[in-house]
Amino acid sequence: MPDKLYVIVESNGGEIRSVSREVLSAARGIAGELGLTAAAVATNADAASEAAKYVTHVVHLTNAGLIPTPLPEDAAVVLAGSSPLARDLLPYLAAASAGCYLGDCTALRVEAGVLVAERPMLGGKAAGTFAFEPDRPIVVSVRAHVFAASDPPGVSGEIIEQAAVESKGIEVLSSDRAAEDRRVDVTEGDIVVAGGRGLKSADNFAVLEELAGTLANATGGAVAVGASRAVVDAKWRPYEEQVGKSGKSVAPKLYFAVGISGQIHHILGIDRAQVVVAINSDPDAPIFKYADYGIVGDALQVIPALTEAIKSA
Ligand SMILES: Cc1cc2nc3c(=O)[nH]c(=O)nc-3n(C[C@H](O)[C@H](O)[C@H](O)COP(=O)(O)OP(=O)(O)OC[C@H]3O[C@@H](n4cnc5c(N)ncnc54)[C@H](O)[C@@H]3O)c2cc1C
Repeated sequence: MPDKLYVIVESNGGEIRSVSREVLSAARGIAGELGLTAAAVATNADAASEAAKYVTHVVHLTNAGLIPTPLPEDAAVVLAGSSPLARDLLPYLAAASAGCYLGDCTALRVEAGVLVAERPMLGGKAAGTFAFEPDRPIVVSVRAHVFAASDPPGVSGEIIEQAAVESKGIEVLSSDRAAEDRRVDVTEGDIVVAGGRGLKSADNFAVLEELAGTLANATGGAVAVGASRAVVDAKWRPYEEQVGKSGKSVAPKLYFAVGISGQIHHILGIDRAQVVVAINSDPDAPIFKYADYGIVGDALQVIPALTEAIKSA
């Protein structure tokens, strides 16, 4: 009888990613309301130890690598933070277990003993509310900042070392482990400096990198570089940096939209930003209707001037 709610824990260098920590923080409450036990799956030993402070049962997959793993048989619900990995892995996990999947949810709660999720639909023109039948595994990813991260409640969970089982029907032809990324993830920035097609070229993103570094030095906070889909599609920036409906949802204290027009698909990813500053050469750009502050001008002049002003402040 499936009786567990598993959180898939993503980590970087053993450090649990903030969206995973948020989901871990909510897991015990949701599991309790559903009559389930909160558990977690991690592929890193340090992350597994940290997760065991939140839930009573942690499976540490010792050889997970890139091989997808079937759901544990006792999984009633699987939760993960929205991420490129979750987008690849969760639909597969759900399909392999005859479960149901809903990605990128913006709310998740229990109503009358039933798990209920919300997510935008039709490019943000509508919001859908979904109730899951508990007769099959439920696999859900939740966007960053839907839940608040909290300190561990002081549980001392059991860690079970387990080798991942290679899935039938999938053959890994080759794999290449990317170098560990030490940059601030765009979902984890207190400040996000995001660029769009108005920056004109991949090389010109150097001015945003410079501003991000300067802001990090000046504030001591986490500063990330983000991108619109147009520049990701143009291969100027990696997909990991994409903000918006088909990218990541961010909630920084301060968001710079530089050379970004402000189409709804982008705005959907920044609706939790506290303050938005737009820099655009077109005074009629839609982003100015959304931004708290706006600068009309050429990004390649405004950004270096702003960087110099911060350096000399
Ligand atoms: C299903 C779907 C999902 C999508 N998901 C996403 C998503 O996740 N994220 C996303 O961003 N988009 C997404 N899009 C695409 C989105 O609709 C827009 O096409 C995209 O956001 C435009 O990117 P942009 O603002 O960089 O480019 P543009 O729309 O081309 O805007 C460039 C802006 O730069 C300004 N500019 C030009 N020169 C300068 C200069 N020298 N200095 C300052 N400003 C200048 C222009 O005035 C313009 O406003 C999605 C679309 C679809 C259909």
